[in-house]
Amino acid sequence: MPLKLYLASGNAHKAREFQALADAAALPVEIISAVTVGGMPPVAEDTGTFAGNARKKARALKERLPPGAWALADDSGLCVDALGGAPGVESAYYAGPRASGAENLAKLVTVMREVPEERRAAHFVCVLVLAGPGGEEQRFEGRCDGTLRREPAGAGGFGYDPVFVPAGYARTFAELGEEEKNRLSHRGRAWAQLAAWLQGRDGPA
Ligand code: IMP
Repeated sequence: MPLKLYLASGNAHKAREFQALADAAALPVEIISAVTVGGMPPVAEDTGTFAGNARKKARALKERLPPGAWALADDSGLCVDALGGAPGVESAYYAGPRASGAENLAKLVTVMREVPEERRAAHFVCVLVLAGPGGEEQRFEGRCDGTLRREPAGAGGFGYDPVFVPAGYARTFAELGEEEKNRLSHRGRAWAQLAAWLQGRDGPA
């Protein structure tokens, strides 16, 4: 029987992506959308940290779950050295509260236009928080270092992928295949830790 993890997100795409990551790690896990329990309760992502926001989302969903169920939440973003870590926890809203991924990307390209090559370092962060049936919480963090291209390149991925070149690569996340991106991305790395932790347990609660 796969371990059921309720995902603290109203985004169906994210549930599918997380299921693919679990499957790639051969984890006996079923990712269940919050939609099945009446939707994700509204949560203000205002803690100022990826971990704080992820914890808040996991706890909010946990309240809606049947006894014995597990909640999984994530928070992620891009931190740019030359911008003092921005957009960071504001990555999804960089160009405004209702900004699209394309608008956020366009703003970053503009803001970074005059920044020289040697100051274009950036990293993605992903924090996963797993809230267990007994109130226990586990946190996993993945990071992927790289640099920012001046012009977007590639059609894959989403968000800031077309300008992010992971360290040791010549192509952007948007030019790499999904499988390759998942292997080295912040999300893939956080998932690898979660997978190792789950595999080290005796079995599902
Ligand atoms: P959230 O974790 O779903 O709140 O996403 C935060 C934001 O960070 C997204 O809207 C994107 O702008 C950015 N982001 C997070 N992960 C990635 C990634 O893998 N590629 C590109 N952008 C990302």
